[in-house]
Amino acid sequence: MSDDIQYPLHGSCNCGRVTYQVSEPFIRQVACHCTDCQKHTQSAFSLVGILPRSGFRLLSGDLASWRKTGDSGNPVDCYFCPVCGNRIYHDSPEGADSVRLKLGTLDDTRVINPQVHIWTRSKQAWYQIPAGVKTYETQPPAKS
Ligand SMILES: [Zn+2]
Ligand SMILES: [Zn+2]
Repeated sequence: MSDDIQYPLHGSCNCGRVTYQVSEPFIRQVACHCTDCQKHTQSAFSLVGILPRSGFRLLSGDLASWRKTGDSGNPVDCYFCPVCGNRIYHDSPEGADSVRLKLGTLDDTRVINPQVHIWTRSKQAWYQIPAGVKTYETQPPAKS
């Protein structure tokens, strides 16, 4: 992680209509290897930055959402750009005080450094988890 990261960070969707800023450091960064994340990222895992709700602000564009049942069994609202379809963040409707930002939408990706890998049970075989990170076969216990 670079030392010269300046807040606020900025991010946007693929088409650029949705822009946002992050004004507080992430509580935790997670690489999620669940099959839902593999589908929606069209990749091996998603990069999620959990941050206080007060640290996230939408600057432009409109978001659409759909609701799914998360790995924990609780509902999750998935927010995305309705024009280009890029997923921006996940939120829990029962009003958790944090949001789960899709880190790949950040303009400057130097801040990304996930120290926790979850749902490694469904990890793609070609990918090797880096040494020294925490891993969970499925969902980590709350507040881990
Ligand atoms: Zn877009
Ligand atoms: Zn996932």
